[in-house]
Amino acid sequence: MSLSHVLAQALFPRYCACCQSPVAHEGLCTPCLEALPLFLPEEGNLLLRADIQTQFSLPDCDGLIACGWYHGVLKRWLCELKLHQRRHAARLLRQVIAYQWQRYCFEQVPQVDTAVVIPLPRHRLINRGFNQVMQTWGCVLNGQLPILPVLSKRMTRAQQTLNRRARLHNQNQAFSLAGSLKGQRILLVDDVITTGATMNAAAQLCRRAGATQIWACATCLTPA
Ligand SMILES: [Zn+2]
Repeated sequence: MSLSHVLAQALFPRYCACCQSPVAHEGLCTPCLEALPLFLPEEGNLLLRADIQTQFSLPDCDGLIACGWYHGVLKRWLCELKLHQRRHAARLLRQVIAYQWQRYCFEQVPQVDTAVVIPLPRHRLINRGFNQVMQTWGCVLNGQLPILPVLSKRMTRAQQTLNRRARLHNQNQAFSLAGSLKGQRILLVDDVITTGATMNAAAQLCRRAGATQIWACATCLTPA
């Protein structure tokens, strides 16, 4: 540890967000990070898991990776970021995502060339002021994968208010894609996958634009 770190820790002590033990860098201590109930990257493609395959409808995606289920601290931090714009929550999520992404890369899952982030509709982006997926995954993937701003989203009804069928219809109307993804292997990134309707609608467009492989990627999957 450098002298400046020692000084900073003495003057402004930092504590793990879970166990409150002193940490050198803001966020979680290593034991707390490793104890989070994350999916195991050595399992590979989550769509090969029977429970996940039956719950999420992603016929246009070749694979799926994620950090964990949408509950516990992951759910709390995602809500804090999305609804209250807590920077602290964004930092913790980035730490978890970077950790999980590194473990997936170690397993060479998935092999992709380019990332595409699921966009917010313009009015929601203006209201919120940021896209939480860019604030988390965008920062982690930056420098590792090109992030192509090819997708845009029209105004739709909030998915949470709709049933499964209405969600599908809502999403099929929602996206447009500018440009070509010919021959590209795509990582399609969102924060939470609930039914798969949003993700799959975007995947369909990527496929039509020439993507040869599409991996869905999310911070969390909503449990059944
Ligand atoms: Zn801790």
